Amino acid sequence: MEVRVRIAPSPTGSPHIGTVWQALFDYVFAKKNAGKFILRIEDTDRARYVPESEKEIFETFKWLGLKYDEGPDVGGDFGPYRQSERLEVYKKYADELVKNGLAYEDEGAIRFKTEKDGVTSWSDLVGDKKITFENSTQDDFVILKSDGYPTYNFANVVDDHLMEISHVIRGNEFISSTPKHLMVYKAFNWQIPQFAHLPVLVGADRSKLSKRHGAKGALEFKKEGYLREAILNFLALLGWSHPQGEEIFSLDEMIKFFDFKDFNPASAFFDTAKLDWLNGEYIRRMSDEALEKVLDEYLVDHPVKGKITPLIPLVKDRIKKLSDFI
Ligand code: GLU
Repeated sequence: MEVRVRIAPSPTGSPHIGTVWQALFDYVFAKKNAGKFILRIEDTDRARYVPESEKEIFETFKWLGLKYDEGPDVGGDFGPYRQSERLEVYKKYADELVKNGLAYEDEGAIRFKTEKDGVTSWSDLVGDKKITFENSTQDDFVILKSDGYPTYNFANVVDDHLMEISHVIRGNEFISSTPKHLMVYKAFNWQIPQFAHLPVLVGADRSKLSKRHGAKGALEFKKEGYLREAILNFLALLGWSHPQGEEIFSLDEMIKFFDFKDFNPASAFFDTAKLDWLNGEYIRRMSDEALEKVLDEYLVDHPVKGKITPLIPLVKDRIKKLSDFI
């Protein structure tokens, strides 16, 4: 079976660095297994929809070189890749469940009839552990809302199935939704993908990474003068570790060594000081010519743009971010 993985962001604002972090593992896992990496836009929550964020998602992946094989702006055989363009698909499958007595209408919405006896479990690739939920903890949940839009718990499963996703790599805040997903797979008698729930990214005070910790949208790192290679290297080290203990390595090297067994299931600490250090290391490893080129591009409207050649040897050993140059 071909390895097919997806990142499925909701366009509710600028893409978070945590989304890029997950996408990096999708990308690496796909490359490692000669598989496909897919971008799907989960835009069914119309109240939280922010139109510009989709463009920012495309731009973020482009900047970082995390090229997806299929997606709304690149096409593919399994599209459309925007959930808002697939409403009739969800309707068809919801109707099928109703017809088979596995879902029912409830004031214009459709609810899934959950099993109440027994347990639902799966083995997660992160930490190689079995996760089990009592079915009695799962309520009959809405799969199709009265406005015709599906809920995340339904659309996500229907699309993962139709897009032939083999491995679902996502944040562990979705662990509690997974039993619902598994019940939907079972209701349709669909093959279940493997799950890898990545640990929570935490800030310096060990609470979930948020704006409070200075967590920025992914593109803000670009604006502040972080290099793509340094960001990817830094993100790779969050949760995963190189089997030979290396700290500085390329994306190709990560692809070569990646294995979920080297993933630490405990939370991953987003240490900005480490990112700054790594970025400085990448700057120092560049040739003067290469550094001049990236700096000059970075200094969009600055008066010294085009005149920085003699300054390069003076700054190269001292700056950590391109913005430090100014
Ligand atoms: N749309 C969900 C999100 O915003 C996708 C979660 C998943 O990967 O299943 O993170």
